[in-house]
Amino acid sequence: MSKLNQTVSGSFHTYLPEGCRLCHMGAKMVLFVTGVCLRDCFYCPVSAERRKDAAYANERPVSCDQDILEEARHMDALGTGITGGEPLLVPERVLHYIRLLKSEFGKGHHIHLYTSLAPEMEIISRLAEAGLDEIRFHPPVAVWDELGASPYAESIRNAMQCSMSAGIEVPAIEGIEKVADFARETDCFLNLNELEFSDANARALKLKGFVLESDISNAVAGSMELARNMASGTELNRIHFCSSTYKDAVQLRERLLRIARNTARAFDDVTEEGTVIYGQLLCKDASAAQKMTELLIEHGVPREMLGIKDCSVETAWWILEDIAETVRENASELSIIERYPFENGFVVEKMPL
Ligand code: SF4
Repeated sequence: MSKLNQTVSGSFHTYLPEGCRLCHMGAKMVLFVTGVCLRDCFYCPVSAERRKDAAYANERPVSCDQDILEEARHMDALGTGITGGEPLLVPERVLHYIRLLKSEFGKGHHIHLYTSLAPEMEIISRLAEAGLDEIRFHPPVAVWDELGASPYAESIRNAMQCSMSAGIEVPAIEGIEKVADFARETDCFLNLNELEFSDANARALKLKGFVLESDISNAVAGSMELARNMASGTELNRIHFCSSTYKDAVQLRERLLRIARNTARAFDDVTEEGTVIYGQLLCKDASAAQKMTELLIEHGVPREMLGIKDCSVETAWWILEDIAETVRENASELSIIERYPFENGFVVEKMPL
């Protein structure tokens, strides 16, 4: 086996597919094209709210092409991962989005697609012509024992023939050694994900006897060991295991940092975790917020260090700390806010002054 690269978060690989390399940089947009899927995998992490025929670019609902392009620009995406649901239940939509992204951001914008289906050459060749770079097959557990005789073998060969990078992506659970044998025989890469508890699958996982690795992790106990043991005993050269901690701690942080650096206002303080910190002066209404802005300018705060949002004025946290006593009686509330760097992003901490 090739050299195993390991990270402190428990991930390891002998080979990193390009889609994963960009994901590690936080530079991959997740394009969820439909929540519809005809399978019923017990570990499916798709939430109840998303199980409908609707698309999302990262967390942004998609109502037109512009939503996708704006989200990609927002994070300065270098690539896109197309997922679902089952994307190939809406193949024309997938083809349209691939063409859209390639024509807007150029051929170098790397696109990978997940599918639990085993499409025939006709659809594979259309995906390749549209510009799809990488395809990851997600065969259901029921066929893991007989993958060699299944349509997945043909689909993988077809994808490779069309010059796409092809692989298999499944959770690390009992039976993965069979999937690894098949990946070795077909010469495709194998991506394993640490099995995780989510709101959507918690009941099914508990019924099957899976338990949490620890109180501070969503990972399923034993999933990482299973992947490690399998990897150390296989001849497969191209394997990648992605841990739950890595997804949460590294990928999310890198994506937040990318967005924050791209969108931070002059007065936002970007943290190492990719959140932004600023001061907020909550006023009783929009006209009071406007008056507060004028007052702050009178006290020497540069205009570019101020922003108005609804009934509040926002500025640098250190400016607010300096000026708090001077303006306190004109505001209903003064606080320092730390939040995710999106429009109305999740507030991590609110510290009253
Ligand atoms: S194929 Fe994917 S989306 Fe469909 S049920 Fe399985 S895990 Fe969920």
